[in-house]
Amino acid sequence: MSERRIEKHSPVTGVHLGTFPAASDEAVRAAIARARAAFPAWRDTPLRDRIGRLQRLTPLLKAEADALAETISNDTGKPLLESLVMELLTIPVALDYYATHAAAFLERRKVATPLVFQPRTSYVEHAPMGVIAVIAPWNYPFQLAMLPTLSALIAGNTVVLKPSEVTPLVAEMIAELFARLDLPPGVVEVCMGDGQTGAAVCAGDVDKIFFTGSVATGRKVMASAATRPIPVELELGGKDPMIVCHDAPIERAARAAAWGGLVNAGQMCISVERVYVVDAVYDTFLDALKRQMERVRVGAPDTHADMGPLTFGPQRDTILRQLDDAVARGARILLGGKPLDGPGRYFPPTLVVDVTDDMALLREETFGPVIPVMRVRDEAEALERANAHEYGLTGSIWTRDTARGLRLASRLEVGHALVNDVLTSVGNIALPFGGVKRSGIGRYHGAEGLQTFCNQKSIMVSRGLVPYEPFWYPYAGKHRDIRTVFDRLIEGRPVRAVRAFARLLQRTRDDKPTS
Ligand code: NAD
Repeated sequence: MSERRIEKHSPVTGVHLGTFPAASDEAVRAAIARARAAFPAWRDTPLRDRIGRLQRLTPLLKAEADALAETISNDTGKPLLESLVMELLTIPVALDYYATHAAAFLERRKVATPLVFQPRTSYVEHAPMGVIAVIAPWNYPFQLAMLPTLSALIAGNTVVLKPSEVTPLVAEMIAELFARLDLPPGVVEVCMGDGQTGAAVCAGDVDKIFFTGSVATGRKVMASAATRPIPVELELGGKDPMIVCHDAPIERAARAAAWGGLVNAGQMCISVERVYVVDAVYDTFLDALKRQMERVRVGAPDTHADMGPLTFGPQRDTILRQLDDAVARGARILLGGKPLDGPGRYFPPTLVVDVTDDMALLREETFGPVIPVMRVRDEAEALERANAHEYGLTGSIWTRDTARGLRLASRLEVGHALVNDVLTSVGNIALPFGGVKRSGIGRYHGAEGLQTFCNQKSIMVSRGLVPYEPFWYPYAGKHRDIRTVFDRLIEGRPVRAVRAFARLLQRTRDDKPTS
């Protein structure tokens, strides 16, 4: 069978940047076998040493930040500044955070033991799962591959990482960085490749799949996991709403909508894709947003532009199809709407109004620099329409009244809610991240970011000092006392329950040994 290959063209210039290998099923199986062989020793490496070895990344990222950011930007087309802050910086920040907190997140924890089980002691501990498959997307190809991989490694697992075929330069860069950390062989295996490679990883002998990508692929990943079954974490798409209340700080909200909708050319799972504005401030907000969007400079990463080209060519067709459908149903495009001429995959900031919830532009994820703005009667209507969607990743509320903001944020059906802010909360590594509804299953970042890669184990310890137990055989003669304990516990009378329990204990002690 001929070897599958990945051809990479620059999103900025269209120039051919290289041909990359796609790992075969056999190569994937071998990588998983190496990761499995490496697992026991890595699991038994003390947590402090595991983190210490991974923290060797930090000086590398610092010393080579410009070159690494350039590779990310060449591969994706995103501004260098975004590569630096939203891709590279997140990793040392996360390593630092886990260096401080991982021990507390993973240590054995004592929990309550009910009266009837006294004098036992109960604990919960977290044991690494084994080999974790990490499947990553192209929009933040560094961060979204590295963060779950490092989290799984810190927790004591070994990892088989399958980066996106759309961004092979970054995939190669990740493999090289890990090679330079000098980890034991098999601790991290990077399998370059396409969807077929990803499917082979998922079908292989792995213990959990951590997937970031589209709902369509997420379904396939889950179906593959179901055959074993093994656990999956799915970080999927979004159609994130922004609700602008009558008392919103309008200028800040408009700037946030422009940035939140256009950052990374809108190719962000948590980008602002629906803006609901109450009637009272609609016109003022729309003017302010249009002004902000007009200021956004589109261009190549090395030109200090605000927004680059689309990373993935087919996104252009998705955007155009959704815009055509919207216009045919009565929407108006106030800015942008057509790809720019030239070899680069540039699509300008696009502002759309008179959009209704039945249009593809509102039903589907767009993943492009398009901001639809909807006029609503009041916050109640905005909340209802925001929540009516099948996605639920993040959302934001804009109001000068913090109490109102918190109240509405609590009622938003999302994994992350923000008040007078967009996107930024994902950068707070202490906050668990993940979606509800079709946006995904599971959480990472924070304590969950390590615990999601562990099997929770419950342990109960008896000191084994006596040969008998009140609830063990024989039952004869104990029924009345057990019934009394039962009744007192249900009545919520612990003191009386303890007295009955003591009688039961005495009766058990009086029982003669059988031999
Ligand atoms: P995608 O689903 O096309 O691909 C994601 C990864 O899955 C790629 O590495 C791909 O090669 C692999 N893959 C493809 N077929 C596979 C299969 N059958 N089995 C296993 N792996 C397979 O997604 P994409 O286009 O790379 O990324 C964009 C999507 O990701 C958007 O929907 C976006 O919202 C979502 N996303 C979500 C988050 C989040 O944290 N929730 C973050 C970024 C992106």
